[in-house]
Amino acid sequence: MSQHKVHVEFPGRIVFVGFGSIGQGVLPLILRHIGTQAERITIVSADERGADVAVHFGVRFIKQAVTAENLRGLLEPLLSSGDFLINVSVDVSSCALIEFCHERGALYLDTCIEPWPGGYTDKSIPAARRTNYALRETALALRQGRENGPTAVLTHGANPGMVSHFVKQAMLNIAADTGVAAGNPQSRADWAALAHTLGIKVIHVAERDTQVSPVRKRPGEFVNTWSVDGFVSEGSQPCELGWGSHERHFPADGHRYDFGRGSSIYLSQPGAATKVRTWTPKAGHFHAFAITHGESISIADYLTVKSGDQVLYRPTAHYAYHPCDDAVLSVHELTGRNFVMQSEQRILMNEISSGGIDELGVLLAGHTRNAYWYGSQLSIDEARTLCPFNNATSLQVTVAVLSGVIWAMENPRQGIVEPDEMDFRRNLEICMPYLGPVVGEYTDWNPLTDRERLFPEDLDRSDPWQFKNIRVR
Ligand code: NAD
Repeated sequence: MSQHKVHVEFPGRIVFVGFGSIGQGVLPLILRHIGTQAERITIVSADERGADVAVHFGVRFIKQAVTAENLRGLLEPLLSSGDFLINVSVDVSSCALIEFCHERGALYLDTCIEPWPGGYTDKSIPAARRTNYALRETALALRQGRENGPTAVLTHGANPGMVSHFVKQAMLNIAADTGVAAGNPQSRADWAALAHTLGIKVIHVAERDTQVSPVRKRPGEFVNTWSVDGFVSEGSQPCELGWGSHERHFPADGHRYDFGRGSSIYLSQPGAATKVRTWTPKAGHFHAFAITHGESISIADYLTVKSGDQVLYRPTAHYAYHPCDDAVLSVHELTGRNFVMQSEQRILMNEISSGGIDELGVLLAGHTRNAYWYGSQLSIDEARTLCPFNNATSLQVTVAVLSGVIWAMENPRQGIVEPDEMDFRRNLEICMPYLGPVVGEYTDWNPLTDRERLFPEDLDRSDPWQFKNIRVR
């Protein structure tokens, strides 16, 4: 008898599209916590990576890239009503898979909204259309006529994904600590009103990864603790951020959209070339990359308070990512090569030295207690004891995939949903045992701390939490 809790029985078939670092880390969690069998699971992936893991678990592995042309022929025999497609690939259009799953009556989950190959970097497409904002608008437009259809969960990894649940828990914690009666927020409007009442100006997804391998990055090599292709793609997209109602200095290189919800903006430079100041409990304050991510857009949109068309309140929201040190060197080399990808790639897994952690959480700032970080401080050592085929970074993602899949199985007719719209308590309950220490910590730090020690700077001292102060120029 397994010592692992089975959260849900699932009689249908499960198909993985893609089986890289995330897929390989998810599979053991699915087999532990979902009532299914290896024979009911099939993997379709473009290369042989992970084929040995599939053999280890007795799962069928089909080596074949999914393309716009072969999608139906390949996947129709594998998926029908009541089955589940878990999309953990790169280079496969999420929207095409969502439409296909809806037609087949199958459930769906992905960890980011991917376009077909080239969609992120094709310069013939205007920059505004190469954003996650545009991808999200396209995905949300698929809701029309698919309400109450089979559940399709968008962007449910760690971030985007679990961090939306962290934001809700963090808001409740701040409310309790500052004597604000939070009540029992349920709807989007309830959560937005709470964020407004608390006075949250800024939400960073603040992450510092300190995992390291004894074999250091070599020239011409891109090293990371998760998908190199995924990181380079999103790092090459324009920097994007949810644009808060408190902001008084519109960036000179900033652009608004002439389509969609208008809750975020983009800069005319890639996120991997855009640095911001942020803070996590163990690292203290540091510089991070403002890589575009789905949560920057969905969280800011979700927490917007409007009166008619007028925005009364919205937090600024963006990612602030310090990847592992060798990934920082890799990004530095990549930007120096004008975003021509290095020929060698390495995802760190078994070779990672003991001692590193991935400190991943949300920093909610601008309220009466200044700033509060809430998140996971999972170490590589704990990750290894918790689940095979994972490092600290992947486990934070894979357990969030697991919780999203379970939530979809438990709520199979929700149509297309974003993390912000899911039950945060149920998801966190499933994730918690795999996150290592989950802590909430206040800080006095703000982006003006220790500034102008060497040179005068153009700062807005009347409000530390202006993006102008946060951005590194
Ligand atoms: P990876 O690079 O390790 O693996 C990608 C996989 O996709 C490989 O197995 C590859 O063979 C497969 N693939 C590529 N083209 C394909 C095609 N046409 N058809 C089928 N399979 C194809 O990536 P990863 O680290 O496992 O990440 C997977 C996805 O998850 C990426 O999109 C990444 O951005 C996303 N991700 C999200 C989060 C999050 O927290 N939300 C975190 C990490 C990764």
